[in-house]
Amino acid sequence: MAGKKFTYAPAPESRAILDLKSSYGLFIGGEFVDPIDGRTFKTVSPATEEVLAEVTEGGAADVDRAVQAARKAYDKTWSTMPPRERGKYLYRIARIIQERARELAVLESLDNGKPIRESRDVDIPLVAAYFFYYAGWADKLKHAGFGPDPQALGVAGQIIPWNFPLLMLAWKIAPALACGNTVVLKPAETTPLTALLFAEICQQADLPPGVVNIVTGAGETGRALVEHPGIDKIAFTGSTDVGKMIARSTAGSKKKVTLELGGKAANIVFDDAPIDQAVEGIVNGIFFNQGHVCCAGSRLLVQESAYDVVISSLKRRLGTLRVGDPLDKNTDVGAINSAEQLARIKELSEVGEEEGAERWSPPCELPDRGFWFAPTIFTGVTQAHRIAREEIFGPVLSVLTFRTPAEAVEKANNTPYGLSAGVWTDKGSLILWMANQLRAGVVWANTFNRFDPTSPFGGYKESGFGREGGRHGLEAYLATGNRGRDV
Ligand code: NDP
Repeated sequence: MAGKKFTYAPAPESRAILDLKSSYGLFIGGEFVDPIDGRTFKTVSPATEEVLAEVTEGGAADVDRAVQAARKAYDKTWSTMPPRERGKYLYRIARIIQERARELAVLESLDNGKPIRESRDVDIPLVAAYFFYYAGWADKLKHAGFGPDPQALGVAGQIIPWNFPLLMLAWKIAPALACGNTVVLKPAETTPLTALLFAEICQQADLPPGVVNIVTGAGETGRALVEHPGIDKIAFTGSTDVGKMIARSTAGSKKKVTLELGGKAANIVFDDAPIDQAVEGIVNGIFFNQGHVCCAGSRLLVQESAYDVVISSLKRRLGTLRVGDPLDKNTDVGAINSAEQLARIKELSEVGEEEGAERWSPPCELPDRGFWFAPTIFTGVTQAHRIAREEIFGPVLSVLTFRTPAEAVEKANNTPYGLSAGVWTDKGSLILWMANQLRAGVVWANTFNRFDPTSPFGGYKESGFGREGGRHGLEAYLATGNRGRDV
């Protein structure tokens, strides 16, 4: 209709495919068991606050039982099995993930709040891809560059966050199993459901009991896992504060450690960049997964000469983003994962205003129930502002400017973090120069937030140490004489 904006009719994905149980036990030794000293808690849909299921909060005795099951499976089955056979199990898991992709995507969107478009097209296909990729390595470890006969470490304790629940599980479990380790994994308190569905997939794949154990719970459950003396390796993804606690508590122990922590990435746009593509990259960089992304491009650095055109195009584009029901296939930005995370985003955004930055959001109606935050940009941000220094972990972009490449590098590296960065320019030589100068584990050129199982991922400085993904990711799960501290 002339003068009226075209809008989409709702296109909700059905939940009918899910067989959601009202309560879940712990997955230990190949079966779902009741806790010994655990309590229960409820997991809710962040979009509606509806209770989805009751889940177990594993206690120290439960963690101990899981570690013992993993040790037994390591000694009796997994470490003695020919590597080619281990590979077959991983291929089987990968294929079942593909077969049950729709179910996994719906459950991930329900429990996490992310748009189905992302769980269906990004998270779950990548989960399958990581299992396929590491399945291929299982019988080729001798050729991976870690010595003629690399050995597994034993039992790995793995703790994952809530932003990419199943994808983080895949990043942790696939390389660990391919290298011959067994695992005890603790999912995040607010997003345990796809890990429990993955446990069912392990049963379906006839994975030997105890090779994968899932202990749901909160921070205390994670702490019990980190401190358990029967653990040979800790792999953690989450906040820098908890990462520091883990580094302290494992110091001086035999445990090999990898930490993938926070970030405050610079997404740098030069004036010769293709502006429309750069604007798409800025949007993907910070509004993908509601900005709950450790490598999010949360600091936009725009060359002064392109500032006006970039900001006006960005504002126009933000006006077209659809915020709402995560299960609607048209939704671009879903719900914030929890009330706690929403409170943190609100607090830091208020600080941004108080410190003098200019706040802007497109007109957008937010649902009454659930946890929601409109896509937001702050202009007039300086390097001293808290919103330029601290990880907000939400759909909030801080915009800064620069004049020369050297100034862009100086500002981009002026952060305690070093996980990722983006560079947008027409000049290949400038991309290569910038990539050399930027102190970030991943530098994307004319794109952002792209992931691939063959590509290593990890940080510098307070973003952690060790690499996940690719050939490099094998090192974290092999006895190479390196505890994982220096990358
Ligand atoms: P946490 O670091 O607390 O959570 C990550 C995982 O660690 C969860 O499974 C958590 O359990 C577990 N955990 C919590 N405390 C301990 C402990 N003492 N020992 C062992 N494991 C523990 O992150 P939050 O969820 O609290 O988020 C806080 C902030 O962290 C966010 O605002 C964001 O800035 C950042 N963050 C960064 C992520 C990244 O990928 N880099 C991912 C998630 C958060 P539980 O879920 O039960 O608390």
